[in-house]
Amino acid sequence: MIYIDNNKFKFSEKVMIVEDKWPCMSVNGVTEIVIDLLQIDTALLTGIAEPGYALTGSCQFVIFVYDQDDFMNHRWRDAIIAHEIGHVKYKFGHGYGVISEIIADFHAIRLGYGKEMIEAIQAIIAKFGWRGKKARKAYKRRLMAARVLNAIYSLLKGGERQ
Ligand SMILES: [Zn+2]
Repeated sequence: MIYIDNNKFKFSEKVMIVEDKWPCMSVNGVTEIVIDLLQIDTALLTGIAEPGYALTGSCQFVIFVYDQDDFMNHRWRDAIIAHEIGHVKYKFGHGYGVISEIIADFHAIRLGYGKEMIEAIQAIIAKFGWRGKKARKAYKRRLMAARVLNAIYSLLKGGERQ
């Protein structure tokens, strides 16, 4: 069983990483055929949820990944984990609108994974444009917000006094 490093991700609750392809596909509205056809990087299909019955008591949240070996060795791994933690740490209402994505991205940015987070958003734009005009617009807003927040964060960090 793989648990996330709570210090590293600034989160106090126990979070387990679990390989489970079904929620990854279901939440993102894709099938194995679509993943193959569009050559979607499956790290982009990662999500977070409360544990199901079988895992109750062993953790407070599960991060479900499509392919655990691939995810654990992925260059976006920590950015994506931080993003998912951001979703539960700064719960913004319900659902997964663009604002909650931006807030989750910001958690990754402030932990120092801005570059990787921006790369992942660019990959989303490249691979999920078929979801339509509204979705494309939301992705672009998200990318712009991440770039601005990352720039501000870098400036602040650079100006910090010890
Ligand atoms: Zn998200």
